[in-house]
Amino acid sequence: METMTGVVLPGDSTVAFEEFPVPEPGEGQVLVKMMASSICGSDIRAIYREHLGEGPEAYQGVIAGHEPCGRVVKVGHGCKQFAVGDRVVVYHISGCGVCADCSDGYMISCTSPVRAAYGWQRDGGHAAYLLAEENTLVKLPDSLSYVDGALCACGFGTCWEALTRIGLSGADRLLITGLGPVGLAAAMLGRALGATTVIGADIAEGRLKLAAELGLVDHVIAADESALGKVKDLTGGAGCEASIDCSGASAGRLLALQGTRQWGRCVFVGEGGTVDFEVSPLLIHQQITLFGSWVTSVKHLQDLVERLDRWGLHPERTCTHQLPLAEAARAYQLADEGQCGKVCIVFDDE
Ligand SMILES: [Zn+2]
Ligand SMILES: [Zn+2]
Repeated sequence: METMTGVVLPGDSTVAFEEFPVPEPGEGQVLVKMMASSICGSDIRAIYREHLGEGPEAYQGVIAGHEPCGRVVKVGHGCKQFAVGDRVVVYHISGCGVCADCSDGYMISCTSPVRAAYGWQRDGGHAAYLLAEENTLVKLPDSLSYVDGALCACGFGTCWEALTRIGLSGADRLLITGLGPVGLAAAMLGRALGATTVIGADIAEGRLKLAAELGLVDHVIAADESALGKVKDLTGGAGCEASIDCSGASAGRLLALQGTRQWGRCVFVGEGGTVDFEVSPLLIHQQITLFGSWVTSVKHLQDLVERLDRWGLHPERTCTHQLPLAEAARAYQLADEGQCGKVCIVFDDE
């Protein structure tokens, strides 16, 4: 039997390599030759350091990697759309396919016991091949690289969903708290959707520097006590019409909310932790709409790659490190240090 090396995450900030059989696609499934498989903040937060996740975030010892992108090399019976040779992004959750959320393409929200996320409950992208359900595939436009595609599978998809859900447009200035890979994605997409001024805040020096170097934000500010004053100064005292928290930290969430203009919209996508704030002065009396947004839908992932193609935008620009599978330990270390942009595992084309 043909085998392949896959990366599993034992949960003590280490990476382990194990041998797995190369899977055979069954009914409605395809085999994808992996070309790029990036690391998401959730992999670090809920799996790599310690297995913290429950329910949809419970890691079951499978091949890690929930941002997979590659090329179809085998097609099982009953596939309707995809063929050998197709370049594909994998929407990273396979749902039951028939519940209300799945019908809407939001397999992320499926609560069926058969729901399984790649890299969490079923094998993910950190191996030469991935067994994928056809209904989780999105065609990658020719102009986009495999790394571009991988970055869309979770991070960029999540930002696209959040920013379109709050109706971001050219009427808005955008405040981003947290300039990790998701914050950089929000900056790139926020500007593409028309935000006239993009302000980014972070506590990490390296991340502020990178965001400024990439030119994805108009202003970078250190997320310290002076941050809110700076946001106000940069917006004529008003705050931003739209804000997005990508930090997942309570201070970041608070700054996003405080930096939102009266009648504005604020969306939280950074995961984990808590936030504590005075509801009346900060939310109710400010007439602010606060959104939560979790991942995206298959259709919206498709919309995203179509727009990126049309706009000539490349998420890969936010990827500072591309490493082969053999260097997965280093890749996870880099992502965990939180000073760089996106880290992606890349594979040779054969
Ligand atoms: Zn993710
Ligand atoms: Zn479902």
